[in-house]
Amino acid sequence: MKQDFLDKFQGSMLGVAIGDTLGHPFEGVLREDIHSYFKDFKEFIGNNRKLFNTYTDDTQLTIHTAKALIQGNGFNTDNFIREYVLWLEDPPIGPGYGCISSIRKLKYGIPWEQASSNSGGNGTAMRIAPIGLFYCKDLNELKKSAIKSSIITHSHPAASAGAIVIARAIAYLIDKNPEAGFSIDEFFEVIISSISGSQEEIWEEFIKILAKLQSNLDLPIEAGLIKFSQIGVKSPYFIEQYLGKAFVHPYTISTVVCAIFIFLKSLSSFEKCVFELATAGGDSDTVGAIGGSLVGTYFGYNNIPIDLAKMVKGYKNILKLSEELYLKFAKRN
Ligand SMILES: [Mg+2]
Repeated sequence: MKQDFLDKFQGSMLGVAIGDTLGHPFEGVLREDIHSYFKDFKEFIGNNRKLFNTYTDDTQLTIHTAKALIQGNGFNTDNFIREYVLWLEDPPIGPGYGCISSIRKLKYGIPWEQASSNSGGNGTAMRIAPIGLFYCKDLNELKKSAIKSSIITHSHPAASAGAIVIARAIAYLIDKNPEAGFSIDEFFEVIISSISGSQEEIWEEFIKILAKLQSNLDLPIEAGLIKFSQIGVKSPYFIEQYLGKAFVHPYTISTVVCAIFIFLKSLSSFEKCVFELATAGGDSDTVGAIGGSLVGTYFGYNNIPIDLAKMVKGYKNILKLSEELYLKFAKRN
């Protein structure tokens, strides 16, 4: 069955915003504590509407990424830098240090090669959805643009690898029909091959971690998150007090792996998946945003419950922006 790509574009962008909005109140909280607040998350949302009043940097930067792509009809460094600098005026909500410090330098005209921080944080994977969508039919450009859009703020190789993997996963999911499902083995083959054959040691390590994830998909969500929450995190960044706990570390590899894990464990509905993502623990808003980009692409806007869409601040603007991005994509293809 041919998929409606406009629906998928809108689902993906809105998926980021819903996951981010629902995860925001739980940023920095252990999964076990989050889940102690409620028996039924849907009911909890209904009773605590005010908690879920905004999205954060993840959605803000995704919006700026989409705008930069629309302006340039594709990736263009100057447009991306201009849009990310404009984000400083939004103003940023809950930004990562590496990301905001590099963008502040860009604002003062420092070339990106010097402004970029050596951060391996999840700041590039959280904003990559528009690139996965726009280049879903041009995988060479998808990879190049994922790298280029990352290194202007994050020079660490883990950051660009995380961005490529998520962009490639989105391109894979865009023509899948949720009623028919997809092959999990093929999904892993595709995302692993997107970062294979490089000289980067961290990319090779990431591939091994993805293979480990694939062989641990039978774990329940809590146990899997305990296993993968800090995977790949190196000393001195490791948080010892959260060993043996579900608390997703804001490192790119751990966040991307946990988001993919939850997505693959919750393929039955958009709502079920996004609830699990947003209550992951640790960097919950970013797990929500990244996983939201995957589940939103897979299900499409038409399968997103309208009351969840309406929780997003200015959700109609996001739908409109997604349509503009889609029209650029359609013209190019
Ligand atoms: Mg955030």
